Amino acid sequence: MANNVRTVERSIERIEVFPVRLPMTASFSFASGSAGKKGGTAPHVFVKLTDSHGGVGWGEARPVPQWSYETQESVVSTIAKHLAPAVVGLPLSDRFELHRRMHAAVGRGPSTGQPIAKAAVDVAVHDAAARAAGQTLRSFLGGSDARDRVDLSYTLTAHDAAEARDQLETARAQGIKHFNFKAAVDRATDVAVARAVCEAAPAGAFIWADANQGFTPAEAAYAADAFHEAGVHVLEQPLPADRFELMRALRKKTKIPLAVDEACVSPGDFFRYAAEGLVDYLVVKVTRSGGLFPSREQIAIAEAAGLPLLVSGLTDGFVTKQAACQLALAFGFGGPAALNGSQFIDESALFPEKSKHEAKGSVHLDASPGVGLTPDEGALKTFLVKELLP
Ligand SMILES: [Mg+2]
Repeated sequence: MANNVRTVERSIERIEVFPVRLPMTASFSFASGSAGKKGGTAPHVFVKLTDSHGGVGWGEARPVPQWSYETQESVVSTIAKHLAPAVVGLPLSDRFELHRRMHAAVGRGPSTGQPIAKAAVDVAVHDAAARAAGQTLRSFLGGSDARDRVDLSYTLTAHDAAEARDQLETARAQGIKHFNFKAAVDRATDVAVARAVCEAAPAGAFIWADANQGFTPAEAAYAADAFHEAGVHVLEQPLPADRFELMRALRKKTKIPLAVDEACVSPGDFFRYAAEGLVDYLVVKVTRSGGLFPSREQIAIAEAAGLPLLVSGLTDGFVTKQAACQLALAFGFGGPAALNGSQFIDESALFPEKSKHEAKGSVHLDASPGVGLTPDEGALKTFLVKELLP
């Protein structure tokens, strides 16, 4: 590999797609469905980009069909048949043109088309470009290596107050400081869970409720006030993502800070909520939003609107998790980040040194160029879903 060739002189030469299924270590249900069950496997799609001088970058997608419309099959076919052919030959540094071409290949509906597939390519390009520049991704994005830690928010999966408290105590003993829970799965227990979590959480904890579109307007208004009274700090996506008017009505009825997630795919989506004053945070989610480049555009809108950040994920793997942390730190955000993949998937074969990067409830970034990780390719291939290979 010619390490002395500058980023701007390199171009995208090849994009390989690896559909895999990784072992699930815990079950995870939310209002719109499930991300999988303990003992099962979860669909991930790894992307390896090789540039014209032999440099490499990695990206990863974790489609969750019960959360949004993308599937492992659609991510593989979208990247292999549409996105990769459109971007091969492009200068590695040109992320503006990368997204212009990806949008030209797979256009928008009401919002960005196939964002999870696009995010995997976007992260691989950023990783390769930052590696070629000899910079960590956070420095490459405009930050500094001096900011190197993101505190995680632990996802409580219980829908029973006593069980949620037990999970919290166990996580707290491991050094976790912040907690999120899934509301609107069992409406009968939502308020009791909120109270138990707020009571058991340590001082300074950030408590985050996510309803994943699951409430009716009346349920949302009731839960919002009860959660606020219990001490919950934000209620995310209480209502269906395509019902902007319902958020407008809820905003008038409640004092709890609000956020959107499923409704906030493109920068334009977030602009609409921010411009009307309907949200109190931008929830940065790299995969939902089509990658790091459009997420930066959303962060600029949040900055202009005076809104702070939160970070979350889709039980993403460690490549996406570190990429999201690099992005957050570039813009001065050190958590809480609900990047909960480690709670649900076993990636130890791919990243044998993972514990160096994630410990005691925080992600610790080192000074390695790019995202800062390379999955073990041999191990990755042992998890391949061969019938989906392009
Ligand atoms: Mg969410």
